[in-house]
Amino acid sequence: MTVHIRKALEGMRSDIKNGIVINGDLTGIIWNTVEKMLNEADENRLKRVINGTGTILHTNLGRARLSKEAINRVAEVAVNYSNLEFEIESGTRGSRHDLVEDLIKQATGAEAAMVVNNNAAAVYFILKTFAKGKEVIVSRGQLVEIGGSFRISSIMEESGAKLVEVGTTNKTHVKDYSDALNDETAMLLKVHTSNFKTIGFTKTVSTEELVEIAGTRDEVMVYEDLGSGVLYDFAKEGIGEEPVVHKVLETGVDLVSFSGDKLLGGPQAGIIAGKKKYIDQLKKHQLARVLRVDKMSFAALEATFKAYLNQRHKDIPTVRDMLQSLEEVKEKAEEFSDAISGWNSFQAEIIREYSMVGGGTMPDVRIPTYVVKLNHEALAAHSLADKLRTGTPSVIVRTSGDSILLDFRTITRGELPDLIKAMERLTYRD
Ligand SMILES: *Cc1c(COP(=O)(O)O)cnc(C)c1O
Repeated sequence: MTVHIRKALEGMRSDIKNGIVINGDLTGIIWNTVEKMLNEADENRLKRVINGTGTILHTNLGRARLSKEAINRVAEVAVNYSNLEFEIESGTRGSRHDLVEDLIKQATGAEAAMVVNNNAAAVYFILKTFAKGKEVIVSRGQLVEIGGSFRISSIMEESGAKLVEVGTTNKTHVKDYSDALNDETAMLLKVHTSNFKTIGFTKTVSTEELVEIAGTRDEVMVYEDLGSGVLYDFAKEGIGEEPVVHKVLETGVDLVSFSGDKLLGGPQAGIIAGKKKYIDQLKKHQLARVLRVDKMSFAALEATFKAYLNQRHKDIPTVRDMLQSLEEVKEKAEEFSDAISGWNSFQAEIIREYSMVGGGTMPDVRIPTYVVKLNHEALAAHSLADKLRTGTPSVIVRTSGDSILLDFRTITRGELPDLIKAMERLTYRD
């Protein structure tokens, strides 16, 4: 207790030195601060954060938020027993792989599908199962590194497959692939360049062309790592140019894989879809058990896929936030700035800005948004950002010059009261 009181006093002294005026009942304010510290000592390590950055799939902030329906389904199967590996019709043992396979097939048009822990696991699993000890041909322009040290070249080495690089960084031609084909070739791999763009003098080989090249030989498969893999056609709305999963599968590609918690907007998962003969082989592999997904993820995935199939894609927070109109964003920004307008500690201004998609997807896409640009009478932008970040709930903001920016694309109406309270704490009102 004494430690907390000392710490509270130290904090306030330093604030006063910085020129912050503390009005009101001093003892009350000190007690409030101490009480907050005591509560914090019992706080969870993994806790909620208000994402004011406008980056929709913020990798450090947990990527996709789940829909209400997905959360309800997670709670239901977590609290109760479930038919995770039980066939209710026949009363016999079932397979967890069957739970969402039909939904994935319907949503993507695939012959078969399965789910593993994440997309990185899917890439490893597919290479290990079909290309161990054999050659995999990849364009030099697609030897990508995804955040968290996941590199195509390293994961390939780990899987025991031999990487055969073809083409150059900016240009790869059909002939580069066909020249590299030989009896040792197991696979042509296409990797979505999720987190960067090559512009200018460039050429890539399409999935259709890869399918054609592989068709000239028996037993050479084509696999495309789609990265995010969208089910909703954002490109149609003028947002980016992510290929929709079912269109990619229509090319005749043997397998694709994509993340559950990027633009799909579901739980962390790696979804593998494509030809049944390959999916069957994967399901039988020893690694299927190693990489398997738990019941809560299945519950959340099921709800997420159902939302797409029932045209309720806007129930999925990631999709909703991507498609949110400027007016909707502005309304929230106005509600917030109205709420704090009487407080003389802050100066607020609503300005046009851009949100990013994040999560290593659509690196070149900037979605117009409204932000509240905030200045505090005494705190510099970085101190203001620090205080908001370390408060409860933690609020993460962008800084720009002397101001902080709060982007309301990633802040929901439901979060406004807590956000306003977080601001109120920086005014030392009691
Ligand atoms: C994000 C990404 C991965 C990894 O997916 P996780 O679900 O994060 O494991 C793999 N490949 C590509 C191209 C990606 O964009």
